[in-house]
Amino acid sequence: MTEELERIAADLHTHTALSPCAERSATPPAIVKAALERGLGLIAVTDHNTAGNAAAVVRCGELAGLKVLPGIEVTTREEAHVVCLFDDVESALKLEDAISAASPAIPNDAALFGRQVLMNDLGEETGEIERMLLMASDISVESLAELARELGGLVVAAHIDRSANSVVSNLGFIPESARFDALEITANTTKEEAAERFPGAERYPLIRSSDAHAPEQVGDAFTLFLLARPTTAEIRSALRGECGREYLVE
Ligand SMILES: [Zn+2]
Ligand SMILES: [Zn+2]
Repeated sequence: MTEELERIAADLHTHTALSPCAERSATPPAIVKAALERGLGLIAVTDHNTAGNAAAVVRCGELAGLKVLPGIEVTTREEAHVVCLFDDVESALKLEDAISAASPAIPNDAALFGRQVLMNDLGEETGEIERMLLMASDISVESLAELARELGGLVVAAHIDRSANSVVSNLGFIPESARFDALEITANTTKEEAAERFPGAERYPLIRSSDAHAPEQVGDAFTLFLLARPTTAEIRSALRGECGREYLVE
């Protein structure tokens, strides 16, 4: 029996107000509402080095009818950004524990970098994270990829077309040993340009995400998937073109 497949528009890289560089208006309800208004069927919440607001956004999505994958955008030892996506909040929090243990205990300077606000699914503040979330952890790209994969995660090299904080800008190449599930490009670069500009990129699936730091940016860039259900296993199958699963970047 063949399973019925569904076209799902997914934005797999968004931030909440917990990320110091994100807008205070990026509350769990505001992000979910914006995603539904843009016609997305799936988002991932990927704050910098933490999954502290992931449960709230997942819960908010459940109530509103939007699937949300919990994730983290990790800053590696090389200061490269790598997005790790999970099916359950517990796995994302386990990765956060490892990142936190390997990060310098420097408190956030809210005046300089912005507050790091924890919220519930109603968008109410429930606390703040003390350690500075923008610091690089002492985990290499390869070790992070291995760790995230052990926890069942998908590993995506973030915004490889940016001039800073990407594996390309910071390492100068795409490390094959990291075995990324996909590379992410921004709305500013086409697939063809990426394959031309970044040696090795043509060997990987290229996806597009918004990297939204405010609700109104959610869905500014997205990837279309053909999936049986919105899970990391299905996304991996689509990225590999297995069992009729597909993905499409316009
Ligand atoms: Zn980033
Ligand atoms: Zn980001």
